[in-house]
Amino acid sequence: MLRFCVLGGGIKYTLSPIIHQNVFNALGVAADYAVEDMPPAELAAAVPRLRETYDGFNVTKPHKAAIIPYLTEKLTPLDAVNTVRRDGREWTGHNTDLGGFTADLTAFAGDVRGRETLVLGAGGAAEAVVCGLTAAGARVTVVNRTYAKAQTLAAKFGAAAAETARGLRPELIVNCTSVGGCGESALPPEVDTSALVCAYDLVYSPARTAFMAACESAGARASNGLGMLIRQAILADGIFLGRELDTDALYTELVKTLQRELS
Ligand code: NAP
Repeated sequence: MLRFCVLGGGIKYTLSPIIHQNVFNALGVAADYAVEDMPPAELAAAVPRLRETYDGFNVTKPHKAAIIPYLTEKLTPLDAVNTVRRDGREWTGHNTDLGGFTADLTAFAGDVRGRETLVLGAGGAAEAVVCGLTAAGARVTVVNRTYAKAQTLAAKFGAAAAETARGLRPELIVNCTSVGGCGESALPPEVDTSALVCAYDLVYSPARTAFMAACESAGARASNGLGMLIRQAILADGIFLGRELDTDALYTELVKTLQRELS
């Protein structure tokens, strides 16, 4: 029996066990998936036990950067790791948010090359998003509550940063802030939405966020981040099991399961 878990803080309601257990069941893999919910101060002391116990684990807030010093190797250009695979006593770190976001955005919005794109937020998830968008050729401007963080993130990937969204006329907006889970809209009121075609919200609960509703009112198509969540998990399971998985078949099944779970 293989053993995996999600490592995070304040993650009592995480969907990770449902997602990963469903993937393992669909593949006929005998695996157990646990939740390791711990504050940052407890991580260092927990590392030896985690190394003994798990064949691999997913990492979420607030441990995505904190886990890096414990890795043998980091196999992502990002300063955030969301998947750790164990080989013997060695841990390798990966970031499947990047691949999950890129695949889901492409499925939703098609080719983003040359598109004027506004990224809202400059936290851990925004790093994967800006990396993915700039690699795909989008023209990215980052706006964040804390402007200095927007500047640092933009500089890392050759994007632009702006203090506010005033004067921007994006064709695509991606919300990477944590605003939206409680009904408020992350869409800055000052942004010009006259050219807006697509909007993508990393938030996935509620299924239609206030940000999505505001962008749809402006005439755009909008998606939540459920697809990204599912795709990054399937990519992580491929890393755990050391093989390429049939992403499309697993994705279709998981969307149905999670929509039931979130409704
Ligand atoms: P994070 O590192 O804590 O970053 C949070 C971001 O939201 C920061 O840019 C922060 O601005 C901004 N923010 C928070 N409260 C705000 C407010 N009241 N007004 C304006 N901006 C505010 O979090 P994260 O890991 O990047 O996650 C961000 C969101 O993406 C979360 O909702 C998370 O659940 C979601 N997410 C989804 C997926 C998926 O698979 N769909 C994957 C990862 C994350 P400051 O820099 O000024 O603090």
